[in-house]
Amino acid sequence: MPETPEQLYARVAADLRMPPVETWDTFPFDGEMRPRPLRPPVEREEPREGEDGIDCQSCSALDDEYVWTTDRWRLRSFDRPTGLPIVLLLDSREHYAEPGDLPDELAAELGVMLSRIERAIRSIGEIGRVHVCRWGDGGEHLHWWFMARPARTPQLIGSFAAVWDEILPPVPEDVWRADIAAVVAALEAD
Ligand SMILES: [Zn+2]
Repeated sequence: MPETPEQLYARVAADLRMPPVETWDTFPFDGEMRPRPLRPPVEREEPREGEDGIDCQSCSALDDEYVWTTDRWRLRSFDRPTGLPIVLLLDSREHYAEPGDLPDELAAELGVMLSRIERAIRSIGEIGRVHVCRWGDGGEHLHWWFMARPARTPQLIGSFAAVWDEILPPVPEDVWRADIAAVVAALEAD
């Protein structure tokens, strides 16, 4: 069994390491850096947005707030352009919290959905990779991220793409809208 949070904190708090980020080509920041002090564990985790489906934004959202929907899945974008060319989120239509909570049939269909959406995003051109991610520490309603990074820009590879999304100025709105429309067209043609 892993250490308790208290054991972990007692062991590491005074001994944090600073990795050699200056040698990492994908690290987005420059200058002198040090790790933030680690705060001690909390008594209990804060509830996530929409916990147990109560006041859940995803449950209460209408289909027309999504760019593409099926009987059991809904795909949404942000309401304004992102720094990366395409950032989309796939929600289950019903409220589930964790991937492991899905009934087998839905879990199997999720695999197909992740594959279809990744393929549709990649098909629009000039995409180097589509990162497919699930964190789930913000809202409880099960959602998967699709983050497409630009092609041929090696500094933007890997997990820091999620941070570069906030650093790159937003894509021009008309380009962003056309790209999302192209993804939806590809999904419908698939
Ligand atoms: Zn929900």
